[in-house]
Amino acid sequence: MAFTRATGKHRGASRLARRSAGIAGVAALATTGVVGTLASPALAADTDDRSPEDTGLTRVIADESIADQLNAQAAAQEREATEAEARAKARAEAKREAEARAQEIREAEERAAREAERRRLASFTLPVAGSYVSTGYKTGGSLWSSGSHSGVDFHASYGSSVVSVGSGTVVEAGWGGAYGNNIVIRMNDGTYTQYGHLSSIGVYVGQTVEPGQQIGVSGSTGNSTGPHLHFEARATAEYGSDINPVAYLRARGVSL
Ligand SMILES: [Zn+2]
Repeated sequence: MAFTRATGKHRGASRLARRSAGIAGVAALATTGVVGTLASPALAADTDDRSPEDTGLTRVIADESIADQLNAQAAAQEREATEAEARAKARAEAKREAEARAQEIREAEERAAREAERRRLASFTLPVAGSYVSTGYKTGGSLWSSGSHSGVDFHASYGSSVVSVGSGTVVEAGWGGAYGNNIVIRMNDGTYTQYGHLSSIGVYVGQTVEPGQQIGVSGSTGNSTGPHLHFEARATAEYGSDINPVAYLRARGVSL
């Protein structure tokens, strides 16, 4: 029993001493900067005294080192994947935003086009481009059955293009007695316009016309002393509901 204890003591003291020396050696070698190379043989000499814990620790450290590297790699890959996903999301979001903006622009352009078309169709123009009033409204004279001029005469040499002053539907297109070849259009705002003494008619009843669209050619048919365009504006389809054509056109934005 005593022998066993003595041996045990000896081994214990010896191991402690050698381990101390080993540590001192490593510490001394550490200053030379060659610990890695020389420390291993030094420790290898101490093989008998390495406890299972020491060996395990070395393996654990080595395993942890590899595990750390693997973990770091995995984390880096995960980060990269996350960043790639974020970039893809950002690209998708940017694409959506670009598409939304393009759609907004398209819609705005369509609205603008519709509005421009609406304004165009609601606009009015002179019945003969660049012309002027040669005989005024309500002018007296034997030429008119009513005793006064129910419209105005626009200067127009023979063969000038006569256009609808605005949007409307043709309600009369043919011979109109004193008016000669004449056209009556019901305008979209409910008023009527009439075009007389035409040499030819280019529209038919029921046809819709737009501002500035040619409807005939000027002439001197009917009760007329020379080529011109007789133009009337009426509040209703009835003869006698005539209104001042100059005021009528000016109220609709036409300069004359
Ligand atoms: Zn006239």
